[in-house]
Amino acid sequence: MNKQTIAIDTPFVRPDVYGSLSVPLYTNVSFEFADAAQMADVFTGRKKGPDYARVENPTVNNLEHRVQRLSGAAHVSAFNSGMAAISNTLLAVSAQGKNIVTSRHLFGNTLSLITTTLRNFGVGAKLCDLTDLDEVESAVDDDSCCIYLEIVTNPQLEVADLQALSAIARKRNIPLIADSTVIPFTETSLHELGVDIEVFSSTKYLSGGGTSLGGLVLDYGTFPDFNQRIKGDLLFNIGAYMNPYSAYQQTLGLETLNVRYQRQASNALHIARGLRGIKGIERVTYIGLEDNPFYELARRQFGPTSGAMVTIDLASKEACFKFINSLNLVHRATNLFDNRTLAIHPASTIFGNFTEQQLADMDVHDTTIRLSVGLEDPEDILADIRQALGQ
Ligand SMILES: *Cc1c(COP(=O)(O)O)cnc(C)c1O
Repeated sequence: MNKQTIAIDTPFVRPDVYGSLSVPLYTNVSFEFADAAQMADVFTGRKKGPDYARVENPTVNNLEHRVQRLSGAAHVSAFNSGMAAISNTLLAVSAQGKNIVTSRHLFGNTLSLITTTLRNFGVGAKLCDLTDLDEVESAVDDDSCCIYLEIVTNPQLEVADLQALSAIARKRNIPLIADSTVIPFTETSLHELGVDIEVFSSTKYLSGGGTSLGGLVLDYGTFPDFNQRIKGDLLFNIGAYMNPYSAYQQTLGLETLNVRYQRQASNALHIARGLRGIKGIERVTYIGLEDNPFYELARRQFGPTSGAMVTIDLASKEACFKFINSLNLVHRATNLFDNRTLAIHPASTIFGNFTEQQLADMDVHDTTIRLSVGLEDPEDILADIRQALGQ
C-alpha cells in the first residue's frame, strides 16, 4: 500500500468495541485486569497491554503503530515534545565520560541540552562542521557515543551527507542519530541513507495547525540495546511519554500530513522564487532553489520536495524588526509548519540568550528572518511581504 493509504487506513492496534472510525481518545490513567495472574504478566512484560498511562496508552499506541508502519522502523516511541524525544534519545546513548559528536548548527535548545544540561552529567560535546568529513573523522574517538545532526539545520539551512557520516559512525560502531523535523519522515527513508535513530518534533508538520506538542523516536533496530533503554528504563523513570490528547490530534494530523505538506512545499518554492525579485531582500535561502549549494544533495537525500522553511536576509537588524512590525498577514510567531505563514527573527528570539560570539560561531545572523510557509495562497503572502518592505 502507498503511504497515503497507510496513514489513513491502518487498523487500530486493537479493534474499537464501538467500531469508532476515527481514533478513540483514552484519557484514563489505569487499566483494570481480569485476575492477579494477568496483572502480573502485564506488569512484568510477559504479556502486552497497558497498565499505567505514564508508560502506555491505547491512543498513543495507535499513533506509534501508524508511524512505525509508515517508516519501517523497528520501534517507535512517542514523547511529550520534540525536546523530550531528543533528550531521552541522548540519555539512552550517552553516559558519564562519553562524548556526542555534533555541530554548532543545531536547534537552540538541543545545543543547550548538549553543551549545558548533559555536560553537567559528565557527557562531553565535540562540535564540528558536519559538512567537513575529515573534521568529523578526527573528532570521533573511543569515547564517542553517537554522531548527532539535523538533516536540514535551522536557521542556517545546511545539509550534511548522511551516507558519508553513516560510514564514519559504522566504523566506530556508534549510531548516527538524525533530527528530521524539517522534512516529514514520510518523504524519504533516512534509514536507507544510514541513519540508525531518527527523532523529530511532531509539534511541527504532524500536528498541523500547531495544535499540540509531541516528539517521536524512530529506532531502526540497528542498536538492539537502545529500545530497551528507552522503553524499559527512561519511559518509566523520566516520565515524558506523549499525552493522549496530543496523540489524538497528531493521529488526525498524520492522516492529512501528505496533502498539507505537498501544498506547503510547493508554496515555499513559489514564495522563495518570488522573493528574489523583491527590492530590499539581500538574500533568499531555500534548499529547493536550484542554485542553493545544497540543492543536489538535498534532492538525493530527501526527494523532490524541500520543506517549507525559507530564510531571507535584509540589510540590518533594524530593517528586520521594521519588516516584522509591518506584516499584516504573515504572523509574528515561532513554530514551524503551522497552517499559517509565520515569521521570526531567530537571533533575537530563539537564540536571544546566546552571546554575540556564540551567534557568530553558529552562523546565526541578525540580518536573517525565518519564514515558515503555510497553506495560504502564496500570492497573498508575497503581496504582504512586498508591502512590509514598502513596495
Ligand atoms: C521545534 C524543534 C525541536 C523541538 O521540538 P519541541 O516539540 O518544540 O520540543 C527540535 N528540533 C527542531 C529542528 C525543531 O524545529
